[in-house]
Amino acid sequence: MREPAIAVRDVVKTYGEGAAAVHALRSVSLEVWPGEVVLLMGPSGSGKTTLLSVMGCILRPTSGSVRIAGREASAMPESDLPAVRLEHIGFVFQGFNLFPTLTAGENVELALDLKGIRGAQAQRRAEALLAQVGLADKVRAFPSDLSGGQKQRVAIARALAMEPKVMLFDEPTSALDPELIGEVVKVMEDLANDGMTMLVVTHEMSFARDAADRVIFMEGGVFVEEGRPDDIFTAPRDPRTQQFLQRYLK
Ligand code: ADP
Ligand code: MG
Repeated sequence: MREPAIAVRDVVKTYGEGAAAVHALRSVSLEVWPGEVVLLMGPSGSGKTTLLSVMGCILRPTSGSVRIAGREASAMPESDLPAVRLEHIGFVFQGFNLFPTLTAGENVELALDLKGIRGAQAQRRAEALLAQVGLADKVRAFPSDLSGGQKQRVAIARALAMEPKVMLFDEPTSALDPELIGEVVKVMEDLANDGMTMLVVTHEMSFARDAADRVIFMEGGVFVEEGRPDDIFTAPRDPRTQQFLQRYLK
């Protein structure tokens, strides 16, 4: 039976309590299907990172259901979640979080180690993964010798090392100098073309137009509008989407 790679239903996330409560997700439902590329857009503070964190089992929702490959994650004990993340989910964040004292290759090998792959086999696999993101010649380079775009590509190779069923990207290019964005977007587009299941927060319009199957606009912890990129970028219906797109459409 075909089932979503990740599905959340009626997810609510409230940070804090009482007068200080922040309603980051007010009630969100989303299914990401195998091979699908879903894009999340919306202003800062709209709940995008919170939703990604809940879907990636980094963060427990206040209420609602989270299903990963058909298993109800919200019913699992906290101690089961690392294994679920390890088996299913690859994260790429704005910051690269590479270990500065390890080479690019060793950073990827560290992830392979979590999968039980070590030694010469891990070395070969790390080289292949770095080649996949266009960094075959940087296996022995340290993060300090890499550009931001190269570091982010190492981070993508490291996430791929986990052989994730779903890749979650949270504004992967927002810390990069403009001239370095393209090389990271290219790697993401290649992944999308290869059939990777992806949930991506980005405002890069080239990726949105060329790679996304579905675009969702969030604001204030709810989905404002969703549709196919062609439809939503040419004829957004909701005034909040229209206003937002005016800033980014180019
Ligand atoms: P986005 O990624 O769209 O910018 P976030 O999911 O980071 O939005 O944040 C949604 C809302 O939740 C914001 O109002 C933010 O300030 C708040 N928030 C996020 N993380 C926390 C936290 N750990 N504690 C309290 N409030 C938080
Ligand atoms: Mg965010």
